[in-house]
Amino acid sequence: MNETNDNPQSRSNFIVEIIEQDLKTGKWGGRVATRFPPEPNGYLHIGHAKAICLSFGLAQKYGGTCNLRFDDTNPTKEDAEYVESIKEDVSWLGFDWGDRMFFASDYFKTMHEYAVKLIEDGKAYVDSLSAEETAAYRGDYNRPGKNSPHRDRSVEENLDLFSRMKNGEFEDGEHLLRAKIDMTSPNMNMRDPAIYRIRHASHHRTGDEWCIYPMYDWAHGLEDSIEQITHSLCTLEFENHRPLYDWFLEQLDVYHPQQIEFARLNLSYTVMSKRKLLDLVSDDLVNGWDDPRMPTISGFRRRGYTAAAIRNFCDRIGVAKRDNTVDLALLEHTIREDLNETSPRVMAVLDPLKIVIENYPEGEQEEFEAPYFPGQEERGTRAIPFSREIFVERDDFREEAPRKWRRLAPGKEVRLRYACLITCNEVIKDENGEVTELRCTWDPESRGGTSPDGRKVRGTLHWVNASTAVMTEVRQYDRLFNVINPLAVEDGHSFVEHINHSSCEILTGCLAEPSLAGAKPESRFQFERIGYFCVDRYDSTDDKLVFNRTITLRDSWAKIEKKLGGK
Ligand code: ATP
Ligand code: MG
Repeated sequence: MNETNDNPQSRSNFIVEIIEQDLKTGKWGGRVATRFPPEPNGYLHIGHAKAICLSFGLAQKYGGTCNLRFDDTNPTKEDAEYVESIKEDVSWLGFDWGDRMFFASDYFKTMHEYAVKLIEDGKAYVDSLSAEETAAYRGDYNRPGKNSPHRDRSVEENLDLFSRMKNGEFEDGEHLLRAKIDMTSPNMNMRDPAIYRIRHASHHRTGDEWCIYPMYDWAHGLEDSIEQITHSLCTLEFENHRPLYDWFLEQLDVYHPQQIEFARLNLSYTVMSKRKLLDLVSDDLVNGWDDPRMPTISGFRRRGYTAAAIRNFCDRIGVAKRDNTVDLALLEHTIREDLNETSPRVMAVLDPLKIVIENYPEGEQEEFEAPYFPGQEERGTRAIPFSREIFVERDDFREEAPRKWRRLAPGKEVRLRYACLITCNEVIKDENGEVTELRCTWDPESRGGTSPDGRKVRGTLHWVNASTAVMTEVRQYDRLFNVINPLAVEDGHSFVEHINHSSCEILTGCLAEPSLAGAKPESRFQFERIGYFCVDRYDSTDDKLVFNRTITLRDSWAKIEKKLGGK
């Protein structure tokens, strides 16, 4: 599992097999045309990343095309802000739709013409039952439905009513255009499904041009057909909509793509429905859709995850036909693997404790050369200044050290990474007994951090030089939820009750080595011994450096993998 693989869809799966079979038989004339069809009613999440990597990845793999298509058939929930965010996220993930960006709303006229054709063919009718009556007539899984009393309206009457629906003569809900299929079908989706409903609402693109809007099942297959898609990939919940997808296209006798369903991605400790994510945003439980704790693509990006790591994750989880939940630890492992390869090592102290090196001359300073990637000096080095006053991590000092303590304690000698050996001689406290400063001495013979006479010095600490340190703010993020599946806890509480309220901790007054001054937004680093951090793309400026903790160094995946018996 250690390969860094940057080729989406490198693995075989049942969809790859179908496509290769089709290419062999020439079923689609050798074409592979897929699409990614988000509804612009929220920001994209990691589940969408799986769908994007799959549809765009397969098009890439077979030299085909993948359309970015906005499925904007529901005017009340959709918004141009979401369209923009989706475009940004898809391109950030590394996929290019070229000139193939489409909107379902561009096809409203064609869809309407097809609906008229279906009425003319006697395969659709205007129904005028109330919502309650419609539900009662529909039956349920154990009971067949009943035909509506309006089911046998004449073609003329249906055409007239439908055109008056379109012209705005009726209120929302007064009439519905339905397909005439089979009210006794065991598949509820086939019991005369709705095709058009009345909705007096402005659309983000068509404005007030329409007051009837197509239903998803009607619209989706037509969009695929109009765009001459070959393989229409969607998630498993659409499996029992497929007969309807096929029925519409067969009745209209139009180009007919193949719908193929795959399992959606579920991730532990995460909710992944746009509606639930919207709740978190609207109730101010997070700071917007791109809060670094959100499982959105923009949240992950802000947190410091790389697009390559997300693509690798999507490739690694594969494509299956059965729903399952992927352990968040696997995503985190994939992120660490990528950052480990790509993030320069630097030093920063999050909770600084001052050290005065008493035998270092005042007013002097020297520099040590340190590699960004230890063991790979060819990837660059930088100079680390050192002088009489430095800072170490408060947690790296104990006045009363436990046995086996390898870090600083009175009388103990430790190594400062890349610099030298120091020994702690005196602890200075304030009136409350709080340690404010340590007085140490260094061994000038240990420059560079080597032990001059081979004496054993076990601990190595990260540190920063006081006079040249850069002040930074560090935001430490953790998992947003305390439970594996926040939506499945049956304790009568809403999923928001399971939010981890210590998932964001803001540390001000952190100190970083001077090479980090002016670090560019979105650049990523490993702070030695602490974790991976990313410069915040919005709040970090030349005057104020802000880091988000992307992830800690501790990887729990290896252990889990072992328990699972290896993969
Ligand atoms: P949500 O339930 O989060 O609102 P959705 O399915 O309604 O998601 P759409 O905008 O309709 O969101 O989805 C666009 C595409 O992304 C669809 O093809 C859908 O099947 C796919 N998709 C959505 N969620 C996931 C997921 N968790 N795993 C894989 N694919 C997904
Ligand atoms: Mg949806």
